[in-house]
Amino acid sequence: MASGRVVVVGAGIAGLVSALRLAHAGMEVHVVEAAPQAGGKIRQLSAGGAPIDSGPTVFTMRWIFDQIYQAVGTRLEEQLHIDPLPVIARHAWSDGSVLDLFADQERSVAAVREFAGAAEADRFVQFCATARRVYDELEGPFIRSPSPSAAQMMGRLGARGLGVLMGLGPTRSLWDSLGRHFSDPRMRQLFARYATYCGSSPWEAPATLMLIAQVEMDGVWAIRGGMYALVQNLQTLAQAHGVQFHFNTPCERIEVQGGAVRAVQCGNNLRLGTDAVVFNGDVAALRTGLLGSGVREAVPGPARTRSLSALTWSACIPTSGFALDRHNVFFQSDYRAEFEDIFRARTLPQRPTVYICAQDRGLGPAPDGPERLLCLVNAPAVGDTDLLHAEDLQLCQTRTQDLLHQCGLTLDLAQPTVLRTSPVEFNQLFPATGGALYGQATHGWSSAFQRSNSASRIPGLYLAGGSVHPGPGVPMAAMSGQLAAEALMAHRNSTRRFHPVATSGGMLTR
Ligand SMILES: Cc1cc2nc3c(=O)[nH]c(=O)nc-3n(C[C@H](O)[C@H](O)[C@H](O)COP(=O)(O)OP(=O)(O)OC[C@H]3O[C@@H](n4cnc5c(N)ncnc54)[C@H](O)[C@@H]3O)c2cc1C
Repeated sequence: MASGRVVVVGAGIAGLVSALRLAHAGMEVHVVEAAPQAGGKIRQLSAGGAPIDSGPTVFTMRWIFDQIYQAVGTRLEEQLHIDPLPVIARHAWSDGSVLDLFADQERSVAAVREFAGAAEADRFVQFCATARRVYDELEGPFIRSPSPSAAQMMGRLGARGLGVLMGLGPTRSLWDSLGRHFSDPRMRQLFARYATYCGSSPWEAPATLMLIAQVEMDGVWAIRGGMYALVQNLQTLAQAHGVQFHFNTPCERIEVQGGAVRAVQCGNNLRLGTDAVVFNGDVAALRTGLLGSGVREAVPGPARTRSLSALTWSACIPTSGFALDRHNVFFQSDYRAEFEDIFRARTLPQRPTVYICAQDRGLGPAPDGPERLLCLVNAPAVGDTDLLHAEDLQLCQTRTQDLLHQCGLTLDLAQPTVLRTSPVEFNQLFPATGGALYGQATHGWSSAFQRSNSASRIPGLYLAGGSVHPGPGVPMAAMSGQLAAEALMAHRNSTRRFHPVATSGGMLTR
């Protein structure tokens, strides 16, 4: 069994998973976290006294968590109550049309038939089959692979996989590809939106991202207690395995000596000697030198296009006029304009798509009275510039409410208890990102291969989180945490060298 001290910088989902895996393997693990609590983007805010999941709300790819919990000797269902949602999402347009997609595909087909006709329902069935094939072919060679390169992946795909990819047109955008599948523009728009799960524009994202649609169709779950219950559970398990958490402890420098990691220096005079660090922040922070000059070159290549940020409202308020389900999407008519505004003009969208998670719905009767909501629109990652002004945010809020109103939903985001988070605050929470919530955008067919993998260029520095392979989203980031822990353990086991480092000047130095 490997032993030795590891410092995990960041208690996001990937950092928590890494810490748990490493402690379970017998290592001494310290987690240093800048925030007062764990979770990173998985955060809960209190709006009007009610706890609101104010980060991720759609829980998918449960199998990744099944594996993570099994690897540390327990089971997900022993730790958390998780219920499958019958309705994946409710989609509404300003012309009054509404389409639900269901966990049960037959129900979805029937709904599409009623919504857009029999021929479109047949096209939907064909689309589902294609998305299924793409997912099946890429899960092993890409998602599960520790460090896929384009060439390696082609090799692993085999004739059948290559055939699927070629059939898709590997350089085709998701938007173009969907145009070949659907005639109804609303269906094209609905499935194009999955590019935003990677913080990307459907016009720039590769067609392979249709696999995200498959991920949702494979199941969306609700965790009792909210997404934050997952964070609390992982933290509790990690502590039970001896992980020491240091909150309000920003890492200021990862020290490198003789070309390898030597220590972690934190803002509150905590200095931890170590030859192994898992960094769970965005790799942009390394590139821009926020963690010291020694690790600036830890990730290859130039900075790339930032993914989407968001403007969010966390609220506990009454709603009326529209029967919300758990996950709801409200579309406007000119979808392209939204991404032109965000990625080209770098402004808040004039006509935003609005996502609402109604956190008390989906499994039982609708709430009577105020209900817990996270409302989200996409935004440019310009939180570290002076491009966003208070009046822009206000205007976007008005436009958001206008669209909801056109779709029949009445709610008041201007109520004083509603908490608004903009790219500026997201940038403060996630340094060097501008508020980008999903690492680099997945724009262009090769972008998925441009992410760093868990081993950085600096010996002893490992990377985990949504900005590295396999990419953003709670399950993928969790997978990256697992991959980083495995890479670290494999390296330890192969070299069988661990020398506790003597350093000085901090309360936990040894
Ligand atoms: C509003 C919103 C909605 C989303 N919706 C979904 C969804 O529905 N489904 C889904 O799957 N995903 C969704 N996502 C994306 C998902 O939340 C993220 O991809 C995932 O949680 C990222 O995890 P991570 O491991 O990269 O860590 P992060 O969550 O990025 O956490 C990193 C942690 O590191 C800490 N840190 C950084 N630098 C330092 C430092 N120098 N010293 C100490 N600590 C540091 C930060 O404080 C933070 O706690 C959403 C995200 C947001 C914000």
